[in-house]
Amino acid sequence: MKIRNLWQGIALVSISLLGMACSYADSSRYYDIHYVDKHTVAIGEPEYYQKNYNYLILGESQAILFDSGPGVHNVRPVIESLTSLPVIAAASHLHFDHIGNHHLFDEIAIVDLPELKSRVDKKGRFLPTQPEFLGFIDQLTPHALLVTQWWQAGATIDIGNRTLEVLHIPGHTPSSMAIFDRSRNQLFVGDFIYPGSLLVGDVDAYIHSTQTLLDVVSEDTKIFTAHALSSGVPLLYRKDLEDLAVALKRFKQGALKSTRNGECGPTYPVNKQITFEVCDFL
Ligand SMILES: [Zn+2]
Repeated sequence: MKIRNLWQGIALVSISLLGMACSYADSSRYYDIHYVDKHTVAIGEPEYYQKNYNYLILGESQAILFDSGPGVHNVRPVIESLTSLPVIAAASHLHFDHIGNHHLFDEIAIVDLPELKSRVDKKGRFLPTQPEFLGFIDQLTPHALLVTQWWQAGATIDIGNRTLEVLHIPGHTPSSMAIFDRSRNQLFVGDFIYPGSLLVGDVDAYIHSTQTLLDVVSEDTKIFTAHALSSGVPLLYRKDLEDLAVALKRFKQGALKSTRNGECGPTYPVNKQITFEVCDFL
């Protein structure tokens, strides 16, 4: 989640919810489909005020949908038009704008943390709390999720001739997760970093997780992020993570000056296209 233009966004979403009974044709027009390579598809929502990007990662036996957007439109018909493989809906984190379509899928994966797992009910359902989901921003309530896969940090997920490594990267939220395709040199990071103003929930955790990501990426790793500033797939590189690491350390030392006030408070510069602010409510 990013909260730039928050109030404008609430107004826009309220308008779009009035016509919520959307057809597949509406869905296919709403979503911007972009093939990153033959087996990796970015599914953008450029009309949505947060300009979310979700990613369909295709193996030979299964596919991963990494984030499903805010649920303004049903994404499932679009996914079914792209693949006939069984799809696992994985969550980079539990904010409303990343798990809005998860309940439409039979397989759901979230990061394996004892605190989350302990809250699963007898039927296997997991209900995100409002502070985890933050649905009040778009006037949404969370669906209970039938979580079928708990992905441990460090685990390798095999989807058929393609493997993804699971990275636990707390900082934006405690349960944030990235997945890394080492052979294709692609990293999927959710809201940890994107072009725009990052929302930092825990500075120390963010510093640690930035290093976790730096440890796996090389100079030319493609870092696929979850929000765009304008149109097009929001792609970043190792240099952006390096800039973030420097900025966060300088912030901790009290050596970084804010440039303006954001939604959560002062906004601090990272580089030309990235800033961050510290948000207590995350
Ligand atoms: Zn987000």
